[in-house]
Amino acid sequence: MNKATEQSGLHGSCLCGQVRYRIDPPFHKMVHCHCQRCRKATGTGHATNMIAEPAQLQWLSGEDKIQRYDLLTAKSFGKWFCGDCGSPLPRPTRNGERMIIPAGSLDEEPSINPSDRIFWGSRASWSCFDGELAVHEEYPDSW
Ligand SMILES: [Zn+2]
Ligand SMILES: [Zn+2]
Repeated sequence: MNKATEQSGLHGSCLCGQVRYRIDPPFHKMVHCHCQRCRKATGTGHATNMIAEPAQLQWLSGEDKIQRYDLLTAKSFGKWFCGDCGSPLPRPTRNGERMIIPAGSLDEEPSINPSDRIFWGSRASWSCFDGELAVHEEYPDSW
């Protein structure tokens, strides 16, 4: 991976490459989310997401391939993914205030690293261990 400069923005794409986007810094945070919904949505021990503003994201190609799923029993959980390859893609929160970018969809290294682990209270016992990062039982109210 090439390290992107702070000014250049980052490119991302799905596994099949049809959906491509660009996200411009600055990023609010990069976090590991250990909630059960993220486990289901990613198939892994935790999701790693960057948080930005919706206006910072630009779709470059394949926008018509994007499928949207809103978990109706949740306040705001949802997933946008490529309809052909199923890869998770950036999505706005349901209130439209934030853009959630799955870090694994990036093609370049971001200028920030994960700072926090959230929903630590519902983590799977086999997931990553606590380390040097701040942990939060759920989603911090102050964010
Ligand atoms: Zn795809
Ligand atoms: Zn989560």
